[in-house]
Amino acid sequence: MQVAVFSAKSYDRKFLDAAAEGTGHQLRYFEARLAHDTAGLARGFPAVCIFVNDEADAAALRALKDGGTGLLACRCAGVNQVDLNAARDLGVTVTRVPAYSPHAVAEYAVGLILTLNRNIHRAYNRVREGNFALDGLMGFDLFGKTVGVVGTGKIGSLTASILKGFGCEILAHDTYVNPACTAIGARYVGLDELLAASDVVTLHCPLTPETHHLVNARTLAAMKPGAMLINTSRGDVIDTGAVVDALKSGRLGYLGLDVYEEEEGYFFEDFSSRVIKDDVLARLLTFPNVLITGHQAFFTREAIGNISRTVVESLTNFEQGRALPNWVEPAPAGS
Ligand code: NAD
Repeated sequence: MQVAVFSAKSYDRKFLDAAAEGTGHQLRYFEARLAHDTAGLARGFPAVCIFVNDEADAAALRALKDGGTGLLACRCAGVNQVDLNAARDLGVTVTRVPAYSPHAVAEYAVGLILTLNRNIHRAYNRVREGNFALDGLMGFDLFGKTVGVVGTGKIGSLTASILKGFGCEILAHDTYVNPACTAIGARYVGLDELLAASDVVTLHCPLTPETHHLVNARTLAAMKPGAMLINTSRGDVIDTGAVVDALKSGRLGYLGLDVYEEEEGYFFEDFSSRVIKDDVLARLLTFPNVLITGHQAFFTREAIGNISRTVVESLTNFEQGRALPNWVEPAPAGS
């Protein structure tokens, strides 16, 4: 089957080509992000493969459908970039990769916590300049601290379990109780109780209308003064303007972001010789107690290999008219 792969990087090409070997699928790679004005690149392709910052809104999906596309295979877990109602109405099938390596993201979230807490990012730069002084690098023991995990699905529960190994108390908040979390002694509480009691809050919920700006001026004021906030879920879960205010006032002690509200257009691209016009992002980069990475928590060999194999399985199942285990079931029409 002919497949148009959007937002394609060299690593996508390497792993997808390896996974597709011998299947007969012909993958054509486009650097462009999918949006309504780039959807025409996929004209004549029965399947399209996209990533987190592509824009499969109603206009883009309509253009894909008009061009003959029937399958939108997302090479990611979250599908908030897809207008699922429009896909349902147009008859475009959407698949995703529900779990490729929750370990990759959980381990990364803990990496952000340790780096920020012990100022490893600052020490790295200092030492390279021959400065071995310790002033300003003091951290705190994680042992005995309380960590609040918001969203205790696959990634959140693994993060909780790693942090339990450090001797942390785990508070959890979710719309469902995960027995794997209660089994390690995590205690489910309301969001406000979690925020008030946690030294570190780590976000692992999906982006939904309910979680959009879950962290805002009100919830930031409910956090323990000087606490650490980690987000490896989706940028829009945080109201970034409110977080900048909380950092300026000192209310928020540390911020670790692997995702950012306005990351589209910046993340996954090299801006080292260009001007960053996003003033909020530029301001965030000036704080010594802020660590930002460009949506790389998923980026391990194991995860990319699993993503590629799962995408290719979906392509083959779709082509052969078989059941699609990773189909994203749309909401019923009219809902
Ligand atoms: P999951 O579906 O296994 O778990 C998500 C959990 O969030 C579920 O238990 C769900 O009940 C809970 N949840 C939903 N709404 C909530 C709310 N309002 N309040 C609290 N909890 C709520 O998903 P997962 O595999 O653990 O992934 C979590 C998120 O991580 C994904 O949706 C994605 O956005 C993000 N992610 C990021 C990267 C990265 O590279 N940074 C990689 C993979 C996934």
